[in-house]
Amino acid sequence: MPASFVLTKIIATVGPACADVTSLARLIEEGAHVFRINFSHGSFDDFHKALTNIREASRQTETPIGILGDLSGPKIRVKPVRENVIHLVTGDCLEFVDHGDETYRDENTDHIIVPTTYSPLVNEVHPGHRVLIDDGAIRTLATERITVDGKPRLVCRVIQPGPLSSKKGVNLPDSDISAPSLTEWDDQCVDWAIAHGVDYLALSFVRKADDIKLLKDQLRSKGRDNRALRSHTRLPIIAKIETPQAVRELNGILEECDGVMVARGDLGVEMDLAEVPVVQKRIISEAHHHGKPVIVATQMLQSMIEAAAPTRAEVSDAANAILDGADALMLSGETAVGKHGDQAVAVLRKVAAVTEQYDAPNHRAAAARPPKLSQASRYRTAALAHGVSVIVKDLDARFVVTWSELGGGARYLSQNRMTVPIIAVSSNEVALRQMCLMFGVTPVWMPRPEDSNVFVRQIDELLLNNKWSEQGQPVVIAKGEPIGTPGVTNKIRIHYVGDVCRLTWHAKEGE
Ligand code: ATP
Ligand code: MG
Ligand code: MG
Repeated sequence: MPASFVLTKIIATVGPACADVTSLARLIEEGAHVFRINFSHGSFDDFHKALTNIREASRQTETPIGILGDLSGPKIRVKPVRENVIHLVTGDCLEFVDHGDETYRDENTDHIIVPTTYSPLVNEVHPGHRVLIDDGAIRTLATERITVDGKPRLVCRVIQPGPLSSKKGVNLPDSDISAPSLTEWDDQCVDWAIAHGVDYLALSFVRKADDIKLLKDQLRSKGRDNRALRSHTRLPIIAKIETPQAVRELNGILEECDGVMVARGDLGVEMDLAEVPVVQKRIISEAHHHGKPVIVATQMLQSMIEAAAPTRAEVSDAANAILDGADALMLSGETAVGKHGDQAVAVLRKVAAVTEQYDAPNHRAAAARPPKLSQASRYRTAALAHGVSVIVKDLDARFVVTWSELGGGARYLSQNRMTVPIIAVSSNEVALRQMCLMFGVTPVWMPRPEDSNVFVRQIDELLLNNKWSEQGQPVVIAKGEPIGTPGVTNKIRIHYVGDVCRLTWHAKEGE
């Protein structure tokens, strides 16, 4: 259990640099709340090892940890590079082909032969179109389509060179691509995610609300086919916003999904890079209106893949993402392949702690209001959660505590973006793992208490034994009656830590 609380959630991508139990436990101790398994890199064997090790690290550190499975969607990638890395120079020729499993330099022509995960590319990209690789680091221009051995090839000339390595992403900002939103590979990954109890799914390259609907439909039908895994098919879906179409369709997508990610890597290639900071602010504010969590991702601390300390600009970017209202910050290569993954997590945690302190009195408190959507729904739990946020300010309470069996109550509390931690208690491990992505929420496992007074006593023990709170400090407790009934959060109780007398008195009164 963490010694101090940060409200902003930290997601770390798992990869070769951190997939063992010791490294994962270290990342958890430094402050990671959620691990991302990117289905674009590695095999089911790798995913399985990562998942088993994450669960073990979570057990060893006694910290609930969420697992986010990231579906590749229609993201196009170059196939593995035979020589691991090809150092391109300006003027080099790439020949995109519609077959083969390896990228390599042809010794006879000196051209680089590039098969991709999307074979129609050779026909759908036309001469004059840009073909960008590795989040735009490598820029090429299509010059002609040729036929070799009866098969089409697209020839591209390197304009901006860089090292070409395995499975780097390809962006085609000038071309009309007919790729389906979910591929055969995604389908296999969804099956794997369900079978192994992954806690959230992200979908790459979402273009419209229907892409999310399709994934939800697939989950539902898989649940019908396999009743044993039914509960595993109700997992939240995060839409990765990384195309101009998705930015235009943002509202529709936000209605369908359970959260969004500002996936700045591809967004910065698909759109003018200068627009990305403004688009980030817009996505965050729209997500708040819908009461959906928003993750800011890509190059948060990119230089730390090699360096032991971040740049000023990176620290500033991370802090500003928090000031914009991000619920979570995500590390990619920094933890997956970086040399200082644990330090990168520690830096984000420190930045979050400092920024939240500044943010508290100045920004969030003033901006705190329930999302438009739950106001409109007049839903009881949403109203109660808003009430809690007002009481917290009035009493200068140190914590909000809630019994949230399935996580619904915690979600409504989280939406109010309070300046104090929400300790969300449940006996349901799946719910606890899903709460790991909620802004401000610290999930805690407890056996279900027999009644509310027992619950309050358990809370006192938790707060005092961990030295999270001192005797007499006010906390606001939100719970249901009878306690532990899913979907019923209907009571607010103001409690002073350790105040046993008043507890007994209330009990006598028959509360
Ligand atoms: P996405 O667009 O989904 O973010 P990505 O290729 O950018 O895909 P990230 O998970 O963001 O992938 O990681 C950034 C980089 O770190 C990758 O391009 C890759 O070079 C490396 N990487 C990440 N995960 C792995 C892994 N499991 N194995 C090998 N390399 C990895
Ligand atoms: Mg991406
Ligand atoms: Mg990335």
